[in-house]
Amino acid sequence: MATQYKNLINGQTIDTGEWCDVVNPATEEVIGQVPSCGAAELDQAVAAARAAFKTWSKTPIEERRATIQAVAKVIQENHEELYRLLTAEQGKPHEQAKGEIMGAAYMAGSQATLQLDDVINEDSDQRLSRTRRVPVGVVGGIVPWNFPVMMAMQKIAPAMLSGCTIVLKPSPFTPLTTLRLAELIKDVVPAGVVNIITGEDSLGPLITSHPDIDKITFTGSTATGKKIMEGASKDLKRITLELGGNDASIVLPDADPKKVAEQLFWSSFSNAGQICVAAKRIYIHEDIYDELAAALVEYAKTVVVGDGAQQGTGVGPIQNKKQYERVLELIQDAKDNGYNFLIGGDADPSGTGYYVPITIMDNPPEDARIVAEEQFGPVMPLMKFSSEEEVIARANNSEYGLAGAVWTGNPEKGVEIAEQLETGTVWINEYLHLSPFAPFGGHKQSGFGAEYGQEGLKEFTYPQVITVKKDAVVA
Ligand code: NAD
Repeated sequence: MATQYKNLINGQTIDTGEWCDVVNPATEEVIGQVPSCGAAELDQAVAAARAAFKTWSKTPIEERRATIQAVAKVIQENHEELYRLLTAEQGKPHEQAKGEIMGAAYMAGSQATLQLDDVINEDSDQRLSRTRRVPVGVVGGIVPWNFPVMMAMQKIAPAMLSGCTIVLKPSPFTPLTTLRLAELIKDVVPAGVVNIITGEDSLGPLITSHPDIDKITFTGSTATGKKIMEGASKDLKRITLELGGNDASIVLPDADPKKVAEQLFWSSFSNAGQICVAAKRIYIHEDIYDELAAALVEYAKTVVVGDGAQQGTGVGPIQNKKQYERVLELIQDAKDNGYNFLIGGDADPSGTGYYVPITIMDNPPEDARIVAEEQFGPVMPLMKFSSEEEVIARANNSEYGLAGAVWTGNPEKGVEIAEQLETGTVWINEYLHLSPFAPFGGHKQSGFGAEYGQEGLKEFTYPQVITVKKDAVVA
């Protein structure tokens, strides 16, 4: 029988007697079961979070910091067990799974050092005006399947530091590592401060519309983000939405194809391309297009696609069947339209495991589905450009605005282009670097609000201004 993982409510691990299966995408075998929660369990979790909020919000921030650091330590100490489980449920190769687990610990521990200091607005003979940050209350966190642990901690850590309590829902596709983590941290975190419950997608709208949840922090698709906004509008919950992206990478003619090929490759193919900020459209200047395309193909031939638990695998399977079918559909669409493939494109849906071969497409048109839509898979379209003005317009011609990159021997030129891109993050000569101290968030339909940094932390609070009239005569 598959291992059963329990939920965490009010410091206790619980189950509901009804279970959802979790599948390993490399083998299609059921590797675990998690409780199927509905409105009753959600009510219990929210009530626990509400009760805990009374004391946790008044707990000194230094103590809250120390608790987050203790959670980060638990993650580090158990990283081997956690990353192996993460590979089994998510598909990413061990090395990348380890990166996610250790990264989650590092990001949480670093976020714990952020400050929420009061700000003096006025200190005159007449009055003292001060802004303090007040925790919003009970937070509902909803997480996707591509980075289950990183995204969970990205919500749990700042919620805890701000003085909020949280009810977190992992994706039904990848709840196991988060629930194992819940079990590991239950004696470190005061009861009710962190509650983790699982269920089908239908649990999400119950969280979004729950009358005793004050804020939703969501990472996932733009389509779901819109539903969340609608659900949260009933009682004007605060919301942070980290949504999809269709990020453009721009390679200028002064970049050396041999030096950038490998980095560019991994900016698209890490986590089998299932990263919100993966490079999903690569624009290469015509002067170096052929040479860089050839270097990318040569490098791609050295990368093994397979089970992430096998040593040597570079690209794992797609995480779930629905997404696998979507990526195959995009490849088929490219074939139907006669687009040129430099490598890949020949997936075998009859085999076991949701594997898509590394696929690189040669200069498909701008309105091709593989260019216009977020593919979220190991399929990289390369496009040729001839002028800066043209490529900036093409990069910005998207409903998304999450991130992007410029590759150039001239970083100043890179910055000049970055400032014209309509995205929340732009990297010059690197990729996928997120800092716990810098805000991360999207523009346009990639969402709004931020995570990480001072701005991300403030999203769990509201500003309260207290003004004292110094020269008043009232008594
Ligand atoms: P998804 O929107 O399908 O699901 C995300 C979460 O929302 C899951 O926990 C799901 O159960 C829940 N959910 C589903 N329907 C809901 C509803 N009606 N109300 C409330 N919750 C609901 O997304 P996904 O397929 O898990 O993740 C992939 C998407 O996430 C991609 O578009 C990717 O770009 C995006 N993403 C964005 C970021 C970012 O930081 N901007 C990071 C990672 C992933």
